[in-house]
Amino acid sequence: MKIITSISQMQSTANALRAAGKSIGFVPTMGFFHAGHLSLMEAARQDGHTVVVSIFVNPIQFGPGEDFATYPRDLDNDSRLAKEAGVDILFVPQTSEMYPKQYQTSVVVKGLTETLCGRFRPGHFEGVTTVVAKLFSIVKPHVAYFGQKDFQQLVVIRRMVQDLNLDIQIKGLPTVREKDGLAMSSRNVYLSPEERQAALCLYRSICRARQMREEEGIREVRKIIADIQKIMSLEPLVKPQYIEICHPETLQALEYIEEAALLAMAVYVGKTRLIDNCFL
Ligand code: AMP
Repeated sequence: MKIITSISQMQSTANALRAAGKSIGFVPTMGFFHAGHLSLMEAARQDGHTVVVSIFVNPIQFGPGEDFATYPRDLDNDSRLAKEAGVDILFVPQTSEMYPKQYQTSVVVKGLTETLCGRFRPGHFEGVTTVVAKLFSIVKPHVAYFGQKDFQQLVVIRRMVQDLNLDIQIKGLPTVREKDGLAMSSRNVYLSPEERQAALCLYRSICRARQMREEEGIREVRKIIADIQKIMSLEPLVKPQYIEICHPETLQALEYIEEAALLAMAVYVGKTRLIDNCFL
């Protein structure tokens, strides 16, 4: 596995791969790998690509008071895991080269970023689309892999790729969970043992919502959300930020489930903000 830190070296490597007729499968990450990240790398490998994984804790997608400074980082362990996962190139750019002093450009997706997490994290998705657009033009992938765990991010990136006519296929992969149902996240390391237990109310909510929708045939969104609120209220360490059922393409809130629906939630468990979602 090759580790590349320079943007121009990554670009010339991508050009050489393309000239040699190879396809590039790309997994952008912020590092501190867990099985969710590894599932994306594995999918890219299975699809037969030369696999490029980036690690970049992108400062411009963190708001003031968010966890940019304390975000977990472990490049040595990540390199080992990526190598084991059959990754060909690990791209680890430097912040000073990604955002030099004279940097002035950003990529904004409008409507889709104004709901769900976008309401509570102003500027977050602008930071995400900007860095992903930059990474796409550095890594030049044919296919890029994203997790459904960050569902809004996936929808926003698909929109950006269509709107900007980027010639890149986007694949969204299912959320990988711990045995007890907690969605894997680099931020789970922040949780104390008590908070880790309390965080299970997210998965409990998903199970209850699925049961209501699939077994009890309930279609009224307010009924499902009321049950989830009840589940969350039993955990004193948990403060929901939002619990919404929306259309999985437009992300607009639904009152009544006709066909496709997405349950999306963000909660604080102590000081840690966790998100989760599922199709209903
Ligand atoms: P991050 O390092 O958190 O920015 O995540 C990098 C990629 O991994 C994103 O596409 C995430 O959606 C994806 N990802 C994060 N957690 C999971 C998970 N539990 N299951 C599947 N994919 C995930």
